[in-house]
Amino acid sequence: MSELFIGIDLGGTNIKIGCFDSQLTLLCKTSTPTEADTGPEPVIDKIAQTTEKLLADNNLSYESIEAVAMGSPGQFNFAEGIIISNPNMPLFKNLPLRKMLSDRFEKPAVLENDANAACWGEYTLGAGKGIKDMVFFTLGTGIGGGIITDGKLVHGFADSAAELGHVIIYPDGRLCSCGQKGCVEAYASANSTAKRAAEAIEAGASSSLKKVIEQNSQITSKDVYDHLAAGDDLAKQITDSTAKALAIICINVLHTTEPQRIVFAGGMIAAGDVLLERIKDYFNEYIWTLKKETVEIAFAKLGEDAGIIGAAALAKQLKD
Ligand SMILES: [Zn+2]
Repeated sequence: MSELFIGIDLGGTNIKIGCFDSQLTLLCKTSTPTEADTGPEPVIDKIAQTTEKLLADNNLSYESIEAVAMGSPGQFNFAEGIIISNPNMPLFKNLPLRKMLSDRFEKPAVLENDANAACWGEYTLGAGKGIKDMVFFTLGTGIGGGIITDGKLVHGFADSAAELGHVIIYPDGRLCSCGQKGCVEAYASANSTAKRAAEAIEAGASSSLKKVIEQNSQITSKDVYDHLAAGDDLAKQITDSTAKALAIICINVLHTTEPQRIVFAGGMIAAGDVLLERIKDYFNEYIWTLKKETVEIAFAKLGEDAGIIGAAALAKQLKD
């Protein structure tokens, strides 16, 4: 029986679980509601039971599991395997989450930040394959980040490195959910992009997006890039300023760790080449001349599976 590795992506709403072989081929996957308010023990138990069922349904043996790894949002002490806090899951506080996972599965376990796990997935099998220095952004509700330098994830002195969404790009700019002003997250996350469009319409801008607000009483980032494709001027302006914010953060990370490739993931990349090309345009406009075209800017390749793939790859490292 071949060796199996389990990759888990613990989200606030859903838990995704994937089973991989030793070549990191995805054999099967599933997802289940997190129900975080039931508490950490029941959630861990549910993860193990869901995994058991997934394997049984696919004629795979639970005994063949070699290691498990979980990506989760929150603050951590990675050396101790402890989750310190998770704003969306208040019961997951000061817990030995890695030990709980390892004890329940009776296998070695790895705990990682969710953005770092997705970053590691893209690095291992996706847009970062074959390179050693990569910086990763996930453009979702907020902006998550991951930094890989010389083939290693950067965790920082207190395990909070790569909070790239909260790099300030416009001092005294828009207020961010973190309390700072001018963070890149306040401009270029999927939520901020949609919010800026809604604010512009409220302030009187003319746009085909106005109908969306009237119908749905809100705008999503998908609405913005759908209307961009249809030629709406406001959608173009909003996408331009999102691209500009992302180009500035690309320049800042290039000057910091000099990645070979910068990879964007998350809901926003569905905007497609229009967004990617605008990021590259602004990058080339603002970058120090000597550094021009020294970094590749690309979109992620693995979609929503990046988290479970990255986690499984981290689990497999325990056996390498
Ligand atoms: Zn912030």
